[in-house]
Amino acid sequence: MRINVSQQLKASVGSIRNYQVNGIVDIAGSDSLVQGEVRLMRTDRGILAKGILYTEVEVTCSRCLSLFGYPLTLNIEEEYFPTTDVVSSASLPLPEELGCFTIDEHHVLDLTETIHQYALLAIPMKPICHEDCAGLCPNCGHNLNQGPCDCLLQRTEPRWSELTKLVLANDTLVNKPKGTE
Ligand SMILES: [Zn+2]
Ligand SMILES: [Zn+2]
Repeated sequence: MRINVSQQLKASVGSIRNYQVNGIVDIAGSDSLVQGEVRLMRTDRGILAKGILYTEVEVTCSRCLSLFGYPLTLNIEEEYFPTTDVVSSASLPLPEELGCFTIDEHHVLDLTETIHQYALLAIPMKPICHEDCAGLCPNCGHNLNQGPCDCLLQRTEPRWSELTKLVLANDTLVNKPKGTE
């Protein structure tokens, strides 16, 4: 993810270079393969990196707690500012913007931190392994995606008897002889 941009920093504003991204980045504690292409453009202040990157991170389903691969599409667009003048080697003042990305004193632009930040923002707060994930049984913790647990039977039985009582009660009302109310 480290790109030497010394040649491009010497080039005129608007010059473009395409860079193929294919590498491993640590995202949320797991190594993820990141692939795609970024277009590097020389700006009057530095280098603008723009492109679409694809990766997959391992996340935990918020319903059934199983691990699954979640694909991410990262629309990267960031400007990188040189810290050292490529011709004179003099230190350069950084723009006032907070948290801006920089090109180091060896004129290396590192996409790692950008990818890391974009990926963390793209991961949903409550990921779900698939739309109709059945989750865990609140009683025994069984993963209901793997079939029903025994609690289901035990819990439906009393409910059925309640319903039977209700039906019987209604029946009595309906069958009451006319004129007794
Ligand atoms: Zn799930
Ligand atoms: Zn259960």
